Amino acid sequence: MEDCLFCRIVRGDIPSQKVYEDDDVLAFRDIHPKAPVHFLIIPKKHITSLAEAEPEDAPLLGKMLSLTRTLALQEGCRNGFRVIINTGRDGGQEVGHLHIHVLGGPQPWK
Ligand code: C5P
Repeated sequence: MEDCLFCRIVRGDIPSQKVYEDDDVLAFRDIHPKAPVHFLIIPKKHITSLAEAEPEDAPLLGKMLSLTRTLALQEGCRNGFRVIINTGRDGGQEVGHLHIHVLGGPQPWK
């Protein structure tokens, strides 16, 4: 998707602070962090939201979910973390490219 903000981040047209990258997935720090640790995990392939994911995306979604744990621990979230997937307008999703928020660090921040 040419104009999609996160597709542009995937392409490197917009800079990001990368946490992790492979052929399928990119993780980068949220520019407006809501917690001491706050990063997003996105598929490189454009999927508008979790509601638009297809059954064949299941392995990709599983990989992303598994990465939440790996990357949260890598980022120092030893005592737990929060995972959020805002989905669609009523779900509070502002950027129309599927993303997993991972938030953590010492409370209070919620
Ligand atoms: O789930 P939602 O769509 O509301 O969240 C989008 C998130 O993307 C926001 O937390 C926002 O700070 C983040 N963002 C970002 N880098 C951008 C644009 C938005 O980290 N260039």
